[in-house]
Amino acid sequence: MKHVAILGSTGSIGTQALDVVKAHPDRFALYGVSAHSREDAFLALVQAERPRRAVFSRPINAAVPGVAFSFGEEALCDLAADPQVDIVVLAVSGIAALMPLLAALRAGKRVAIANKESLVCGGDLVREALRQGGGELLPVDSEQSAIFQCLQNGRREEVEKLILTASGGPFFQRKREELKDITPAQAVKHPTWSMGRKISLDSATLMNKGLEVMEAARLFGFSGDEIDVLIHPQSLIHSMVAYRDGTVMANLSRADMRLPIQYAMTYPERVPSPARPLKLYEQPSLTFIRPDMDRFPALKMAYFCLKAGGGCPVVYNGANERAAELFFAGELGFLEIEESVAYALDGFVNRPMTGLDDILAADGEARRLVDAFQRTRSFT
Ligand code: NAD
Ligand code: MG
Repeated sequence: MKHVAILGSTGSIGTQALDVVKAHPDRFALYGVSAHSREDAFLALVQAERPRRAVFSRPINAAVPGVAFSFGEEALCDLAADPQVDIVVLAVSGIAALMPLLAALRAGKRVAIANKESLVCGGDLVREALRQGGGELLPVDSEQSAIFQCLQNGRREEVEKLILTASGGPFFQRKREELKDITPAQAVKHPTWSMGRKISLDSATLMNKGLEVMEAARLFGFSGDEIDVLIHPQSLIHSMVAYRDGTVMANLSRADMRLPIQYAMTYPERVPSPARPLKLYEQPSLTFIRPDMDRFPALKMAYFCLKAGGGCPVVYNGANERAAELFFAGELGFLEIEESVAYALDGFVNRPMTGLDDILAADGEARRLVDAFQRTRSFT
């Protein structure tokens, strides 16, 4: 029996991870949950599931028999490293996942990681925490899970390319000029996946794919030159690995996150899942389009940041997180998201990241640069 802590339990990934835990009462027991907002939803979940521990980001009045409550970031890291926990499902959104990720890895946990921002920003720190604690990092992000599975068919030196597929988001067939007035409601309507609003927006701007290029580089140790992106609007192939003999291994399934979540939890075993099986004869034909880097600056900037290293990936992420907040608040336009990330990258003097303080400082600087961009725009 494995004890599971779901960090970010009220979100899109968090609730699906709970489905997986409940689908296998013989394997998994819910030990702890956390959330950051939507106190009512969180308390309802705790009341219904009765985990042993519950962590909320700020102090709240909560009493549920048998459940120990605690509050704040330290409590979140403490849950991630709790000696009773075997598997941490990291479903927190944003760079806020970095501290609990490091805590879990240092404590030697298996981390089923959905969060990509922490991998992009954490870089060497994550690798170091893995080495120190002897934990395991298993990808949940569908593209990375696909690559992880396809990589099991060969050795590192036999791999030519990782091919990340992208749905292209809701607007990939539109011209850039047509995107100026996109509203938050339009931007979060993803064509093939149902997800939290920040990642849905990131899919529309292609920032999500940019983050995933860097995430794949971090997880599997490949350079930007070895990672391609291919637009595949049907989201049936979740990603591929091209081997040097010309063979391409692809991973296909329905677009259901419970599959990669479960695989990260049961690996190396495969067990029946709550997802419906894929019937290829019911599916539309599959299409693939090479992305135009000039049409999608988010991708171009991600490759630039991966190559530049240092604080650039942190700035890419931090600027994008801040720009997304401003976009949802109606203070930045859709195209201004990528423009403000470019502005932040331009204003940032790159330097090596030697520890957590450097990362948090670069993140803060990126956010301030985006705010400065927004202010200059608001004057004109
Ligand atoms: P979501 O917004 O639906 O849920 C986020 C969860 O994290 C919530 O429980 C929220 O309370 C918590 N949270 C938010 N800010 C926090 C903070 N500062 N500190 C602690 N907890 C915080 O997000 P989601 O769509 O479930 O995505 C979660 C992560 O998984 C993201 O990093 C995303 O990129 C990644 N991911 C999601 C999907 C998907 O299908 N939703 C797929 C691949 C990867
Ligand atoms: Mg993904």
